[in-house]
Amino acid sequence: MNYQKVKGTQDFFNQQVLKYRYLEEVMTSLVKKFGYREIITPIFENTEVFVRGVGDETDIVKKEMYTFKDKGNRFVTLRPEGTAAVVRSFLENKMYVNTNLTKLYYFGPMFRYERPQAGRFRQFSQFGIEAFGDSSPLLDADVINSAFQIIKKLGISNIVLKINTIGDFASRQNYAKALKEYFRPQIQSFCEDCQSRLDRNPLRILDCKVDQNQPLVRQAPQINDYLTDEAKTYFSQVLGILDVLQIPYEVTPTLVRGLDYYTDTVFEFVIKSTDETNNLTLCGGGKYSDLIKSFGGPDLPGIGYAFGIERLMTILDEQDLMPDFSQNADVVIIGLDQIAKTVSLELATHLRLAGYVVEIDYRNTSMKPQFRLAETKNARFIIIIGEEELQNNTYTIKNTILKTQVSIAQSDIFKYLKENQK
Ligand code: AMP
Repeated sequence: MNYQKVKGTQDFFNQQVLKYRYLEEVMTSLVKKFGYREIITPIFENTEVFVRGVGDETDIVKKEMYTFKDKGNRFVTLRPEGTAAVVRSFLENKMYVNTNLTKLYYFGPMFRYERPQAGRFRQFSQFGIEAFGDSSPLLDADVINSAFQIIKKLGISNIVLKINTIGDFASRQNYAKALKEYFRPQIQSFCEDCQSRLDRNPLRILDCKVDQNQPLVRQAPQINDYLTDEAKTYFSQVLGILDVLQIPYEVTPTLVRGLDYYTDTVFEFVIKSTDETNNLTLCGGGKYSDLIKSFGGPDLPGIGYAFGIERLMTILDEQDLMPDFSQNADVVIIGLDQIAKTVSLELATHLRLAGYVVEIDYRNTSMKPQFRLAETKNARFIIIIGEEELQNNTYTIKNTILKTQVSIAQSDIFKYLKENQK
């Protein structure tokens, strides 16, 4: 029996959990203002959903999926990303029937069998949005805008929006042909995966984790020269709107993204490192015109993105942007005998229901350990209940900030706390 966590997974406890929930709250409350509504899909899907949705030539599908046969002999997969599952649900539930534009967000764990390293886990969480039904540079820009506003709200600096277009279907076909011609004579110097990508999906070579920084990749033909006029106009409109919204960006011709379903606008928010190869992508997304149709659904476009939560947590810690999550108590109640302890519990309940964080020591009746608890919890007030207090219906209260101690009638407790809160 092995009692260690599975490689590439993490436990969250104490402050980590509060940080995780803080991010969830900031991101979800912001996109709700943009009109997005939550969707919760299952953690696992029929394998076909991801093979079809993500693309069978991608690293995710070829190497990284947690796929197993269940007891009914069906292949199921722990979701490696959110979009394919959300598209499946959108279609299965016919969400397109009553509205032209469906705007959804999700938050939760994803699973990829990747080599664990800094910022890369086998279970990690993503927050993402998807908008289905409209194709418009305005929508693309507003989707990017929502991610930008999240980053701004969190206060992250040293981040850059990399943006590119990979064009419509016709542009991509022209480009794929040019890439094949360019890479073919040199393909032996690429990794095995790239060799097999050459004929099936040459764009993926640009995105390869192994070969990405090869000079041959850097000097490869660029999509810009193969775009149809329509695709070019669409992209320049997106950029124009980003300018108006004052969202800075870098047009990055080599950006194609690791998933097959993208068309036209693709983007990433990247934390810049001094060494270009160590840039950390916090958020990635783009438009996908053909994904819904390829699932057998209506011909509707979509656009979306996903943030990695663990990476965000690291960056917020590094840039010292996390709020203070120390879990202090407002009040610690000290009971000096068994009767006083029961009375403490009763008082604690009243105070808690009124909104105060109240702790008591369940074990000890002597002063010292109970004061120690108050100290570790950084309690603002210490209420002491002993024989005398019980007899006189009073409480002794220490205000640990003002360093005062008073005796008050039990019935005055709420008044006292309220008056001394500041
Ligand atoms: P992707 O779905 O590959 O576009 O990834 C979107 C975001 O999810 C990335 O920018 C990362 O922040 C995060 N992410 C992807 N894979 C992992 C992983 N293995 N571990 C941690 N975060 C990840």
